[in-house]
Amino acid sequence: MSTLITVKETLWSDLDVEATLDAPIGPLTWYETGGRAEALISPKSLKALQLLCQRCDESGIPVRVLGSGANLLVADEGVDGVIIRFNQPAFQEILWNDLDNGNPTRIGAGVDLMGIVQESARRGLSGLSQLAGIPATIGGAVRMNAGGSYGDTAQSIHSIELMTMSGKLCTLTAADLDFGYRHCALPAGIVIAAHCNLRATDPVALRAHVKEVFEYKKRTQPMGDRSAGCMFKNPIDPSTGKRESAGKLIDLAGMKGKSSGGAFVSEKHGNFIGIRDGGSANDVLALAFDVQQQVFDHSGIQLEREVVVWSQGGAFK
Ligand SMILES: Cc1cc2nc3c(=O)[nH]c(=O)nc-3n(C[C@H](O)[C@H](O)[C@H](O)COP(=O)(O)OP(=O)(O)OC[C@H]3O[C@@H](n4cnc5c(N)ncnc54)[C@H](O)[C@@H]3O)c2cc1C
Repeated sequence: MSTLITVKETLWSDLDVEATLDAPIGPLTWYETGGRAEALISPKSLKALQLLCQRCDESGIPVRVLGSGANLLVADEGVDGVIIRFNQPAFQEILWNDLDNGNPTRIGAGVDLMGIVQESARRGLSGLSQLAGIPATIGGAVRMNAGGSYGDTAQSIHSIELMTMSGKLCTLTAADLDFGYRHCALPAGIVIAAHCNLRATDPVALRAHVKEVFEYKKRTQPMGDRSAGCMFKNPIDPSTGKRESAGKLIDLAGMKGKSSGGAFVSEKHGNFIGIRDGGSANDVLALAFDVQQQVFDHSGIQLEREVVVWSQGGAFK
């Protein structure tokens, strides 16, 4: 790591956390590549997270949250500051509720999305089946408004609990978050939990829907590749004002199957950039840049990256 180490263990040594200094975080992402973080911290309680955020805020230490790393590329040179991970039970609780009986279901930010889609279907509670097969934590799904042809995260959200970077807790409603296509107007802060509108329904039909969504995803996307899902957002075509498939534009620009170092554009879905053994984050970035250039030259449309890239020198991202 080339920057000065700014993080000191005194920030958390008296807190209920698990911490690793100079932690390899690239391997924790779906790309399984990329560098290290100054510190990787798993808080064991809300209080520990709160005090850690306050101290980092006062010391000007950047804090980032790692979900399941399914939409993330960590630069080869690594990242500065503190990376928070919600893999402790305090952030993986689920309080099940049927909205028709009063309250939404509270889902901790670290809960695995694929797991809860299956479990809610098993319980006959509808509201999340449109997200079947999407790798994420609930926190990451809210932040990205993950979704696809069958719907998105926004349509399930009643409200979220957010911790600001200075450690204050607040509740935001779905309206506050102004969700849009792969967009959530999340203020700088950390999603602690999402309150989701789940309702009792016919369990047989619900399980069939989950299966349908999952099968569609498997058929159309290279789920077995090491990737971060779609590299680019579907852009708005200026001539029609409608969203155009980025995958189709990449295909038309002749980029399907192209590679750079260990990175390659998927033959199955042009908007997925995969990586082979030994490939680096730089290989992925170089190929993504090339794809952007070729699409622009071919169609005049500038693709905007959907995948989040962490590198050094960032504040909260
Ligand atoms: C094979 C594959 C298929 C995919 N298919 C789809 C798809 O169909 N539709 C789709 O939308 N996406 C898809 N993706 C992308 C990915 O699944 C989503 O973007 C998902 O929401 C990422 O969640 P995560 O927990 O992995 O977040 P990460 O990748 O870990 O993080 C993404 C961003 O969210 C932030 N974040 C994470 N947790 C929190 C939190 N608690 N509070 C605040 N910020 C947080 C991170 O800091 C980062 O900025 C796919 C990815 C893969 C690898």
